[in-house]
Amino acid sequence: MQVLNYDVVIIGSGIAGLRALFQFLMKSGEKQRIALINKAQMMRSHSVAATGGTAAVLRPEEGDSYELHAWDTIRNGEFLSDQDAVFKLVEEIPKEIYFYDHIGLPWSRREDGKIAQRILSPHSFPRCAYAGGWTGFHMVQTLYDNATKFDNWDRFEECMALDLVMLDGEIAGVTVWDLIAGELYLLKTKGVIIATGGLGRLFKFTTYSYQTTGDGFAMALRAGIPLKDIEFIQNNETSLVPSGILIGSSARRLGGKILNAKGERFMERYAPETLEMSPKDVVARAIMTEIKEGRGFKGPKGLDYVVLDVTHLPERVKKITLSSIREPVMKLTGLDIVDSPIPIRPAAHFSMGGIKTDLYGQTKIPGVWAAGEVACLSIHGANRALANSTAECTV
Ligand SMILES: Cc1cc2nc3c(=O)[nH]c(=O)nc-3n(C[C@H](O)[C@H](O)[C@H](O)COP(=O)(O)OP(=O)(O)OC[C@H]3O[C@@H](n4cnc5c(N)ncnc54)[C@H](O)[C@@H]3O)c2cc1C
Repeated sequence: MQVLNYDVVIIGSGIAGLRALFQFLMKSGEKQRIALINKAQMMRSHSVAATGGTAAVLRPEEGDSYELHAWDTIRNGEFLSDQDAVFKLVEEIPKEIYFYDHIGLPWSRREDGKIAQRILSPHSFPRCAYAGGWTGFHMVQTLYDNATKFDNWDRFEECMALDLVMLDGEIAGVTVWDLIAGELYLLKTKGVIIATGGLGRLFKFTTYSYQTTGDGFAMALRAGIPLKDIEFIQNNETSLVPSGILIGSSARRLGGKILNAKGERFMERYAPETLEMSPKDVVARAIMTEIKEGRGFKGPKGLDYVVLDVTHLPERVKKITLSSIREPVMKLTGLDIVDSPIPIRPAAHFSMGGIKTDLYGQTKIPGVWAAGEVACLSIHGANRALANSTAECTV
């Protein structure tokens, strides 16, 4: 086993891990040595899948406010959010959006040149900044690109962190397994940031990539660090059967209808006013009720489903506006959304809970922090508001 010394070890190179790395690089000076570990390639973190955007109040003059962003977050979280943590998030994230802008992230723009923002449920104001359909990818890419300008960090790519090493109750290091060379490392350190993302792959049907197996949650528990809010798992309401990939809300926003096997638009019974555009949990529960009560279609591997129907929409919308849905659906199911409804059901999508930390990401053990989806400050309560997760990762 090789033994190496670092000032800080960061586990995970998603938005949270890379943002932490970049902050250290900017603030700590050349003398600090930092290790960044990722069990996949650095740029293949799950964060690249985030397409919808990052929520931030950029337009108080047009009617948005911190109070409104906080209200949308807290109400959507079923009033179980930690309100101090929510206010910290909404006050910090606008600065972060401009920070990314200044280091090169190509945010989509309005005609007047300002950063474009769109409205995504449950936000009551168009406050989700986005970079085309590739928000997460560009956040990761911009951070990684800027980090390469510094020399005082080492990449442990395709290397899996196995455990925190504790000595007399204090953090002493991290054990790491090089998945390509088979080598084992002990990285000695007094500072660890766990940024290993969510745990979607614990579930049979999920929108998450294969690397999202909850390693950080387990590592923390083994070291005696408590988890919090772990019972709250968000389901994405419209996920493609059988692969689980997320079908974005754009298809429904443009008029797509969800139908059961009897051809009924059943959301009329569950939420007659907001229908398919109701909050994620409302639509997900309605779909599962239909399936459990026998009004779904028989699916593979027990994955019974309902359908999202866009066949009645204009050709141009189906072929051009919804091309980012049409293409993967065709590839993964052989169906063309132009004339075939899309088989969907809810899938595990986000973990509201995680490693218990204070407002600054500090866990119970001094020197061990958690950041991003693996961490829990109870910002999201029982139900995360869309676009608040990339915001939390970066703040
Ligand atoms: C399909 C999809 C779309 C989404 N869209 C949005 C959106 O539009 N807006 C939004 O705000 N949120 C969105 N989310 C949620 C958001 O993408 C995630 O919550 C966020 O990207 C998590 O980032 P992270 O940095 O915490 O973790 P990740 O990006 O998951 O990165 C964690 C990294 O840690 C590595 N790792 C894990 N275990 C180990 C280990 N033992 N050793 C070494 N490395 C390890 C992983 O390989 C991974 O690279 C979406 C989620 C999904 C599933």
